Amino acid sequence: MGERQLLSTRLSTLVSTVEEFDRLAAEALPELLDRATGHARRFLRETGQWADDISHEKLALRWGYELLERFLVSGRTEVPCRPFFLLDSIIAKYFSQPEPLCYHKDLLSPLGRFLEGMTSRAVVSRDALMALFYHLYGFGQGQVVRILGLGTVESQRVYKNFERWRQTGWQRAVAESGVSEMELRQIEEDKHRQPERLKAEADRLIRLVQTHYRRSEPEHFPCLTHQKWADLFEQDYDFDYRVWHLAMCRDCLVDVYELRQDELTDIQSPQIDLRLRPLQKGGIVSLFWTQQGGGNGHSGGQSAQRLSRTSA
Ligand SMILES: [Zn+2]
Ligand SMILES: [Zn+2]
Repeated sequence: MGERQLLSTRLSTLVSTVEEFDRLAAEALPELLDRATGHARRFLRETGQWADDISHEKLALRWGYELLERFLVSGRTEVPCRPFFLLDSIIAKYFSQPEPLCYHKDLLSPLGRFLEGMTSRAVVSRDALMALFYHLYGFGQGQVVRILGLGTVESQRVYKNFERWRQTGWQRAVAESGVSEMELRQIEEDKHRQPERLKAEADRLIRLVQTHYRRSEPEHFPCLTHQKWADLFEQDYDFDYRVWHLAMCRDCLVDVYELRQDELTDIQSPQIDLRLRPLQKGGIVSLFWTQQGGGNGHSGGQSAQRLSRTSA
């Protein structure tokens, strides 16, 4: 029996301890990801949302990652179980929810995929989280630091590895979202030709995506009242909450801006002002390498990286 086949057999067999579950899951990540991605692809096909191209392949792959993460998190509490069957049932449950994110058909447009990709990446990466302020509202680092009222220590902490976003993080997020260079240019073209229309569309989609992804961080999920925000800034605490929630909630960001307006007179209020590419010294960043690299996201190394919930 081949090694892969052997793994599939073990994945269909009863696992009786958490340790065994962890070990097998780590060893079989590529197989589990394949299966999850296959389910996502089938779902898209069955709901008439599939096309045979690289964008849809990448979309399916990204959903595969998301489903796999759910499996890894909840699977440990389901032991004893048969991993493959558990994965199937988690996925079936996910797709039969009244409104999983993928039922929002608008999110399948290039703009929708871009916004969803950026936001879902921000859930696992602080670089991406900080980058949202720029990509959505056009705020540079200096402005973000002032709006959020961060001191030197906090701002160094959150922007510590930001150069990494410019160099590789952005490309990875876009590649995972399945948006091609051509589609990026098309969105930029729309922004140029019909700025108001694009802005309204982005506004609507951002609300949808942010509401959805805020749930991934229950501690930082709830919106605060005006008074609570005022207290938080006055007493100068909870920087993590400020950073995370305000990156993920446009309403609160506007609220905080208004609250602190006197100190921010030279910064315009947060309005949707999409920037698709990172601010770069020395030229525009494009996606040429992903065109060549194609769907190379299947390597086990990458999936392991994606699945570790670090603040990278
Ligand atoms: Zn939703
Ligand atoms: Zn909020």
